[in-house]
Amino acid sequence: MNALTELNNNYLLLTPGPLSTSVGVRRAMQKDWCTWDKEYNQLVQEIRLRLVGLATVQKELYSAVLMQGSGSFAVESVLGSVIPSDGKILIINNGAYGARMVQMARCLKIDVVELRCPETEIPSMQDIEQALEDAALTHVACVHCETTTGLLNPIAEIGQRVKAAGKTWIVDAMSSFGGVPMDIAELEIDFLISSANKCIQGVPGFGFVLAKRDVLENCKGLARSVSLDLYDQWQTMEQFNGKWRFTSPTHVVHAFYQALVELEQEGGVQARYQRYLTSQKTLSEGMQALGFQLVLENTTPQSPVITTFLYPDTADFSFQHLYENLKKAGFVIYPGKVTDLNCFRIGNIGEVYPEDIRRLLSALKQYSAA
Ligand SMILES: *Cc1c(COP(=O)(O)O)cnc(C)c1O
Repeated sequence: MNALTELNNNYLLLTPGPLSTSVGVRRAMQKDWCTWDKEYNQLVQEIRLRLVGLATVQKELYSAVLMQGSGSFAVESVLGSVIPSDGKILIINNGAYGARMVQMARCLKIDVVELRCPETEIPSMQDIEQALEDAALTHVACVHCETTTGLLNPIAEIGQRVKAAGKTWIVDAMSSFGGVPMDIAELEIDFLISSANKCIQGVPGFGFVLAKRDVLENCKGLARSVSLDLYDQWQTMEQFNGKWRFTSPTHVVHAFYQALVELEQEGGVQARYQRYLTSQKTLSEGMQALGFQLVLENTTPQSPVITTFLYPDTADFSFQHLYENLKKAGFVIYPGKVTDLNCFRIGNIGEVYPEDIRRLLSALKQYSAA
């Protein structure tokens, strides 16, 4: 079904979230639900199980915790809840979301080492190995798909080194989980963070954490916040069969369940990944044919989720003008976020198909001709 015409949608969101959702996902929000009702809590339990199933085949090792708020709240709940007061974290920063984790850790008064790398490059393994020589480090965090550029950090290679050094491994997989195949047990990830409104294609309202059970079990009493206490939220969900501690986003949870069902109907993560890959390839090649230049080099791992383009080198180019025109044509694109570079981004996650990308490209062609 076309997400644009059904239910009066204004435009197709070509952004990394919130994104264009399916009619089914939006329909799931049209009833009100009680938060302490057994049926509702059962749905929460089903969601938690399904998330673990998407993350790994070794399901017994992991547990899913849902946390109210946008994705950043879930990231902050992990950073604030799993690092002891005498702990120390290494954060790899090659973009705005890595930088945000550093900001959170500092605000929470966590001892933090920042490994800063250029935003358009993956970190050097040599630098990581060197940083890991710091014996005081207890935790390491990295973003998987750095949504700033669309770059895909090599979490398998980094994780190998992190685990060899005996550190707890935290991955912000916000804009990749559900859209890029991975097995978190194989990757030895201790805490993976994502949210409702990215590759699972739900609406915004909560984030979730896939936590290694035996590691989370040791986090009792470590939290620096009550509302964002990951351990406490987990314990309540475990002991009270899917109960959230505080008001939960009931409509969003129902929409999310529907989104999980639709992910399965599509053929699971592998099929979704293939759709994203096709859309991203169509976009990247089509844009280059129109004369736009990619920000990332060909050799840099590019996610299938979002792509960054340089402003064209013409004096009369105005992003605002392009944005307004594309919006009139039914597409919303996204401003850039790379420091020191004039660029813009186009996402292709959500209820967006390669034919939508082709329509966008012809709108852009018309715009360029005018
Ligand atoms: C979207 C996103 C977040 C969370 O952003 P919110 O605006 O808080 O939802 C965090 N990290 C990455 C990599 C993201 O793409």
